[in-house]
Amino acid sequence: MTAARSSILVALLLAVSCARPPAAPEGEGAEEPEPARQEWAIAIHGGAGVIPKDIPEEEKAQYFDALRQALSLGREALEQGAPSLEVVEKVVRFMEDAPQFNAGKGAVFTNAGTHELDAAIMDGRTRAAGAVSGLTTVKNPITLARLVMTDSRHVFLVGAGAEQFATEMGVERVDQEYFFTQKRYDAWQRALARERGEGGEGHGTVGAVALDRAGNLAAATSTGGLTNKRFGRVGDVPVIGAGTYADNATCAISATGKGEQFIRNTVAVDVAHRMAYAGQSLEEAARAVIEGVLEPGDGGVIGVDRWGTTVLVFNTPGMFRGAADASGRFAVAIWED
Ligand code: ASP
Repeated sequence: MTAARSSILVALLLAVSCARPPAAPEGEGAEEPEPARQEWAIAIHGGAGVIPKDIPEEEKAQYFDALRQALSLGREALEQGAPSLEVVEKVVRFMEDAPQFNAGKGAVFTNAGTHELDAAIMDGRTRAAGAVSGLTTVKNPITLARLVMTDSRHVFLVGAGAEQFATEMGVERVDQEYFFTQKRYDAWQRALARERGEGGEGHGTVGAVALDRAGNLAAATSTGGLTNKRFGRVGDVPVIGAGTYADNATCAISATGKGEQFIRNTVAVDVAHRMAYAGQSLEEAARAVIEGVLEPGDGGVIGVDRWGTTVLVFNTPGMFRGAADASGRFAVAIWED
């Protein structure tokens, strides 16, 4: 090799090494020290939207209480070394059972006066995923989503086929009446009265993302969808890459908001890809998507990256949310304050 050629080669190698993507997978790109990693971290949400600040004190207290309990469950499990996949399922199950949220018990009404539930879970270690949609009798959709991931050859099951799979798996079943809450019924009646086609009052979707002690990320999301949605409508929650996504190389994301917008903009995977391909941090990527790509009022995301950095970003007046990590942080909030 001539001297000129070898100096060009050295210059090229230098250029390449300086342009290292910050989100390179473990073991690669050792040029810059990585930020200190939290041993574990978790973020949760209970939906984004217009949440009136003047909700009765008792109701407010119930929301805060449910968020704290959900976050404590996750914190304890992660502290004890539980895998993030197990933790996000456990936390989402708890929130599905809490009537305050639009998932499981407390799910909103469709335009046919029924409840149709969607959920998804994703393992950041393997990028295995499971999703279900249009469930009508499954008490905890997130658990069925996980079973689709672990006990079927598929990623996504819907409607009658998903219900039959639930029977085969022996998961707990309930009547449609189980999902009833007066609050959601009243909201549906208001939506009907306004003859609104969809949306508006559906907040209360639940989600969790976590990093465990082994360094693995996971995401889980569950919802009844939007109030007065057309029956048969599928939202973003079970669409992998729209409302739910996890990849150890970048982040775990769970979204909430106007599902159609999150599907059109493949929100969850957009955050991950900005990290992977544009070298953005989780915070930069999540803000760019929520504040730059989506319309104001569309919703928000929670996320965690492999260093245990959490983000809770939304463009609505409020988002039920919380985050905790190994540094002792433990906080829940609803509005922007
Ligand atoms: N994203 C959910 C859906 O569109 C609703 C919500 O998060 O409030 O089904």
